[in-house]
Amino acid sequence: MAQPASDNSGRPLRLDPAGLRLADRLSRLSRTQVRSCYQCRTCSGGCPFFAAMDYGPHGVMRLALLGQRQELLTCDTIWLCVGCHTCSACCPMAIDVAAVMDALRQMALQEGAAVAEPGVLAFHREVLRAIESYGRTHKLEIMLRYKAGQRQWLKDFDLGLRMLAKRKLHLLPSRIKRPQTLRRLFRLPWRR
Ligand code: SF4
Ligand code: SF4
Repeated sequence: MAQPASDNSGRPLRLDPAGLRLADRLSRLSRTQVRSCYQCRTCSGGCPFFAAMDYGPHGVMRLALLGQRQELLTCDTIWLCVGCHTCSACCPMAIDVAAVMDALRQMALQEGAAVAEPGVLAFHREVLRAIESYGRTHKLEIMLRYKAGQRQWLKDFDLGLRMLAKRKLHLLPSRIKRPQTLRRLFRLPWRR
């Protein structure tokens, strides 16, 4: 059973109905207990991208508990998160914060919220497109398509050449035997 949410002095957080509804929806989507967060900030202390984020993982949990839906779905934290799971591993309440970030990205797309970092979403789409086509990623194609979409034709070109020379990038994709078996996984409404 979820512990009641409290602040970092141990006082119970007064959650209004909007906060409770949002926290419980996120808990269902992420299969973790959002209401157990007591704002110790350990997650943000370990997050390698905290300095670049507007709220950081502890701030996202706080917004969820306060029912600040719009702020939450349009913040850049949910898109700058790379899913490294450091926050989930160090949370003293065993909250899977990385899963909450996944759930928030899913909600943001389903609800048509303004994406704070459209370049990150474009990159996600290219990675998924490669997996849909080949069953694996093809880094060179992903980078070329991403750069073309962002109209950054020459950015990192020298780095790409060096990676090719060191065989870190492959010209041709490698495929699994029957990539079509994966395609039904990709018939998701948000990709249309
Ligand atoms: S580490 Fe866990 S309990 Fe502490 S602020 Fe982050 S999510 Fe909340
Ligand atoms: S999973 Fe995301 S929020 Fe958590 S530590 Fe990694 S980058 Fe930060």
